[in-house]
Amino acid sequence: MVYPWQQFQWQKVQQQKSGAKLPHALLMIGPQGLGKLDFALNLANSLLCSTPDTQGHACGECVTCKLVDAGTHPDLYILQGEERGKTIKVDDVRQLSAKLNLTSQYGGYQVALIVDAHDMNINASNSLLKTLEEPPVDTVLILVSSNPEKLPVTVRSRCQVINFNIPETQMALSWLEDQNIQQAGALLNLAHGAPLLAVGLQQDNLLEHHKQLINALLGVAKNQSVIEQAEQLHKLPLGYLLNWLFDWVQDLIKLHQCGDPVKLVHIAQQSELKQLVTRSSLPGLYDYLDQLIKNKQLQSIPLNTQLLWEDLLLSWYKTLKRA
Ligand SMILES: [Zn+2]
Repeated sequence: MVYPWQQFQWQKVQQQKSGAKLPHALLMIGPQGLGKLDFALNLANSLLCSTPDTQGHACGECVTCKLVDAGTHPDLYILQGEERGKTIKVDDVRQLSAKLNLTSQYGGYQVALIVDAHDMNINASNSLLKTLEEPPVDTVLILVSSNPEKLPVTVRSRCQVINFNIPETQMALSWLEDQNIQQAGALLNLAHGAPLLAVGLQQDNLLEHHKQLINALLGVAKNQSVIEQAEQLHKLPLGYLLNWLFDWVQDLIKLHQCGDPVKLVHIAQQSELKQLVTRSSLPGLYDYLDQLIKNKQLQSIPLNTQLLWEDLLLSWYKTLKRA
């Protein structure tokens, strides 16, 4: 599916394709949760399909479309780390380049898709550079990245960049409502406006976990026991909670710096946040943010999460002046 917020990008690449001006390398960038990979797969499918429609969408019926669906099309290569976040190694890039140097089996394009291209290590990037500089004919490389600043400039500069941006709120909300997503507004705020992240947050009871975090923060602010609140939080998904706490502190900083009105992630708790602003100082909030950033960096290491939450909640308590 090409999402409503991707129509402009879709039309642009299709125009390039029909004018035989499609670049041999495209770099799709933008925040997570906008469906860049779906777009890339659709584009790959569109390039390989023998009978795409007038908008360039693959027919879904021809032999090549069936092969793409089955993941067995011999002219489509997908390169990614063994797991999300794992390095893409030089040998894998070399293998890809060798395959691209063979002729297309179906006589059309050969398409290579590099998922999370920023996970290529420096040797892998350097190896890809050769293919980017001298691409085989009718080859299209599609690199997808939400962290393009991690890619070497030499790689970036050899690709045509396609930007994906957070859609207008109304467009995102109406799409979420079409997907029957409940509490779309709250989810979209927590997802910083990225619709597919909002869909992800609907799963696994995450909205309920978010509520537990906010209750713990407000409880500690009202002198409730740090240890008891930490017991409520320590079994919940740490990564999400740390991100939300980060957003919570940033909301307070925004209110300090910009006053009202300002776009908050925690729009539903804005009256509580406004009260907490009067009990906090900017330097204190920045110190707390520093502590959070350190904890976010440490989260891949096994931790005693009960102690971690006691520590974080106690610091939160100390950040606030007594009510
Ligand atoms: Zn087709």
